[in-house]
Amino acid sequence: MDSDGVFVMELRWDPVLGEWVMVSNVRSARPWQPASFCPFCPGTEETGYGWKALILENKFPMLIESPPKPSVHRFYKTASAYGKCYVVVETPEHNIDDISDLAIEQIAYVISLIINKQEEESKKDYAKYFLWFRNKGREIGVSLVHPHSQIYVIPFIPIRVLRELSNAERYWYENKRCLFCDIIEIEKEDGIRVLLENNDWVSFMPFYTHWPFEIHIYPKKHIQLLTQLTDKEIMQMAQILKYSLCGLKSVFSKSMPYVMVLHQAPLKGDFNFYHLHIEIYGMLREESKLKYAAGMETGGGNFTYDSVPEHNASVLRERIKMCL
Ligand code: ZN
Ligand code: ZN
Ligand code: FE
Repeated sequence: MDSDGVFVMELRWDPVLGEWVMVSNVRSARPWQPASFCPFCPGTEETGYGWKALILENKFPMLIESPPKPSVHRFYKTASAYGKCYVVVETPEHNIDDISDLAIEQIAYVISLIINKQEEESKKDYAKYFLWFRNKGREIGVSLVHPHSQIYVIPFIPIRVLRELSNAERYWYENKRCLFCDIIEIEKEDGIRVLLENNDWVSFMPFYTHWPFEIHIYPKKHIQLLTQLTDKEIMQMAQILKYSLCGLKSVFSKSMPYVMVLHQAPLKGDFNFYHLHIEIYGMLREESKLKYAAGMETGGGNFTYDSVPEHNASVLRERIKMCL
């Protein structure tokens, strides 16, 4: 609620940058809870007992299935905040630090739950995009330590994905090839930025890395959606995720804060020129020195890189080797 007691939950269009902003004041209505209470541990009203991983509805969502009517403005465009926000509780164990501490089978199980959720959500009218992401580390504002990630089912295509789609589509028509398949091939040829590879997946720090320790993970098979993965590919995805993140965690003595996101095609339509992948942005540039998206990055939109990716990739590759 805002100061007038009005419940606002809507999308507002930024006509200058051409992108949506999700506006909601439900979060400020969050009830007080003792610091020791964990809503994701087994045995709460929402979680119950007898589960290995859970997908819960986010209690303070930005998007819901039946949102209030958006406000009407004489100049600006608004839209209904249709959608769904979920929390993925990745383990019943509260004191695990990161996904990399889970068994490969457990990670694969979590991924399969997410895939089921995607299949179910794809049928909904509002579901244009399914974004799975994970924020890790107090440094970047994560308050609940119980291992969890999030899903946003969105009524529009996120702006970064739109940019990827438009560049990939142009590349496809100009070269008759997938941009991402070519990047995978070039990165493997160069080799110096490759971090880890298994039967079905490869992880590397791309030539054009933005964040200090950035990891991109691609399936070798040219696929667009999470729902296209086979059971074997899911297991291999869990494996490469576990060890890539384990290496990331041990680059410095302090665990690396990161943001992880799965980029896939929009849920409806034909996007054969696109190629699913995971991006992980490791945000420490030195021991205890956080890279901020500041003036140039936030204000200008372009990144500065305070090292060279080839160097950081070699450091990370050594750490990953020690995890194996
Ligand atoms: Zn907990
Ligand atoms: Zn491809
Ligand atoms: Fe991407």
